[in-house]
Amino acid sequence: MPSAPSKLYSDDVSLLVVTLDTNPFFWSTFSFPFSEFLSHVLAFLNSILLLSQLNQVVVIATGCNSCTYLYDSSSDKSHGSTSGSMPSLYSDLLHNLEVFLARDQQLAKPWGNAAAGGGGAPPSSLLSGSLSMALCYIQRAFRSGPIHPQPRILCLQGSADGPEQYVAIMNSIFSAQHSTVPIDSCYIGSNNSAFLQQASYITGGIYYRPPHLDGLFQYFSTVFATDLHSRAFLRLPKSVGVDFRASCFCHKQTIDMGYVCSVCLSIFCEHHDKCSTCGSVFGQSQSNVASSTNRKRKA
Ligand SMILES: [Zn+2]
Ligand SMILES: [Zn+2]
Repeated sequence: MPSAPSKLYSDDVSLLVVTLDTNPFFWSTFSFPFSEFLSHVLAFLNSILLLSQLNQVVVIATGCNSCTYLYDSSSDKSHGSTSGSMPSLYSDLLHNLEVFLARDQQLAKPWGNAAAGGGGAPPSSLLSGSLSMALCYIQRAFRSGPIHPQPRILCLQGSADGPEQYVAIMNSIFSAQHSTVPIDSCYIGSNNSAFLQQASYITGGIYYRPPHLDGLFQYFSTVFATDLHSRAFLRLPKSVGVDFRASCFCHKQTIDMGYVCSVCLSIFCEHHDKCSTCGSVFGQSQSNVASSTNRKRKA
């Protein structure tokens, strides 16, 4: 990825927007407890703020049904409540997280109910929502003036991809690419996340799946704490074997081969007479044309 134009006062000042996966369906079945994960994340966020006084950290919760801003180090409230032993990072973030988890749970549909769209798989996290919120925040920073910190997004994700979010997530990824905002991904789930692999690959960020979760802080601080300027001098994990498979627009399932609308590039797993996205009418296949002309001749 070409480096972002130098519109900054320093290459070393970062705006780090973190999306935090809070999906209770994932954490309740995962071997590593959420509280321990959170302690690694908080230590990492603190270290980012300690690296430079001008660094800024924003945390967005990725729930099952909603997303919200949990913490913004630049807000006046954060600065105001920094007192004594308990930094505002901990008190504000933990308080907002508690409120958010309770509200997100209220919005939850009963899992496993076919009518609710639950099916058999546990509900996925709303990654498309938190990515969009992160990009909105960054756009606001871009428009705040000619001098602003260098933004990047870090997705801390554990739950499996939600194929139904494919289009929204790809739109966010291309929007980030257009704004030269790298999306870093730390995925702790059992299998790789195709969405996050693609997000990091396309935007020039780093995708990494830590092999040992006990040393999570170490991975965070060595891989994801580096600002964009320093990355040019480091040997960071390279993406290998990115899963580029797409999801079909009709059933939202990941497919190996499919049909693509030549007008709007929508992807379908089976042949349709008409594109459901843009309404283009596709030509009949050769065999259909032949049989219909034969019928006409006979008549
Ligand atoms: Zn389909
Ligand atoms: Zn189309």
